[in-house]
Amino acid sequence: MTQVFNFSAGPAMISKPVLEKAQSELLNWLGQGTSVMEVSHRGKLFMEMITECDKDLRQLFNVPDNYKILFLQGGARGQFAAVPMNLIGAKGKALYLNSGHWSGMAAKEARNFCELDEISIVDKDENGVISVNRTDFSDIAEQYDYVHYCTNETITGVQIKEIPKVGNAVLVADMSSDIMSKPVDISKFGLIYAGAQKNLGPAGITLVIVREDLIGHACQATPSIWNYETQANSDSMINTPPTFAWYLCALVFKQMLAEGGLEIYAKRNEKKAALLYSYLEQSQFYRNYIAVANRSVMNVTFSTDNDELNAKFVAEAAEAGLQALKGHKVLGGMRASIYNAMPIEGVEALIAFMKKFEAENA
Ligand code: PMP
Repeated sequence: MTQVFNFSAGPAMISKPVLEKAQSELLNWLGQGTSVMEVSHRGKLFMEMITECDKDLRQLFNVPDNYKILFLQGGARGQFAAVPMNLIGAKGKALYLNSGHWSGMAAKEARNFCELDEISIVDKDENGVISVNRTDFSDIAEQYDYVHYCTNETITGVQIKEIPKVGNAVLVADMSSDIMSKPVDISKFGLIYAGAQKNLGPAGITLVIVREDLIGHACQATPSIWNYETQANSDSMINTPPTFAWYLCALVFKQMLAEGGLEIYAKRNEKKAALLYSYLEQSQFYRNYIAVANRSVMNVTFSTDNDELNAKFVAEAAEAGLQALKGHKVLGGMRASIYNAMPIEGVEALIAFMKKFEAENA
C-alpha cells in the first residue's frame, strides 16, 4: 500500500505510536481483561488515569496552579455558548474580535446569551491578501467582562501570533486548531478552550483551561453540564464523560512528553510550515493569500486560482496517498493541515507532489 499522509483539518491525524499503544491495550487495559471503554469512569484505574492526564498536561503546557483543567463535551461550539453563560458578570457585555469564520461563529452564538461588541480585525488588500490589522485593545478592553478571540482560523489559515493586549480584562481564546503546537504563557489568559480533534486526540472531548477566580459566577439558567463550577467540583464528570476519547488524549500527552515537550514540537511545526510556505512563495502556479505575519503554522491554504485544476489536484493527490487536501467549502482551493502529528516526511511528500503537478499542468 502507498504510504498515506492525512492532511485533514479535523478530526485529524493521530500519531502512530499513540494508535499502536491504544491498539495494544484495546482488549486488555491494565490487565483488567476489558477495554478502557467498558469500565466505570468512577473506578480506581480510570480515576488514576485522569489524575495522571491532568498532571501530564500541566507539565506539558505549563499550566499554572491557579487554573483548573476541564474535559467537557459539546466541542468548541459548546464553549461558544458556555463562555458567555459563565463569564458574563457585572459589566454585562463582552468584546469579540472577528478574524474569520470561527471567531465570527463564536460571536454569533454568544449573542444568544449576552450583549457584545464585535470588531473585525482583518483586512483584505487589493490582491486578496488577508492580514490582521489590530491586536492592541488595552484602551477599550476593561469595559467588558471578557475579550474573546480565535488564535488560529482553521479555514483561511490566519494565525494571530502575538497575544492581544487587553490590559486587566479577561482574555478568552478559542485555540481549537493550534493548541499545544508551541508553548504559551497561560497566565495571560482567563480561559482557553479547544476541541480535541486536531492536536489533542479524537473528536468528542473538549479541553477547557480556566482561571479559578472565574469559576462560580455562571448565570442562573446555565445547564450543569456547561457550568464550570459544577464540572470543576465533579472532576468533569457531572455526566458520563467520553472515556475513550479522554484516554486517547492522555496517551497523546504522554507521547508528547516522551518526545521532549512543546519546545520540540514548536520547532518541528515551524520547520514544516517554513518548507511549505517557501515553496509556495517561489511558485508562479500556486498562491497563498495570507500575509506573512499571519500565516498559520497549522493550516496552510493554497490555490491554483482555477477551480478545475484545484479539483484535479485534490483527486490526484489522494491517489498518491496525500489525503484530505480539499479546502473548506466556504473558501475552496486546497488546505494542508499539518498539526503536531504530521511528520516532516508528509510535508516533503506534499511538496514533491506539488512540483510534479505544477510541471504537468502549468
Ligand atoms: N473553532 C475552531 C478554530 C475550529 O477549527 C472548529 C472546528 N473545526 C471549531 C471552533 C468548532 O469545533 P467543534 O466542531 O469541536 O465544535
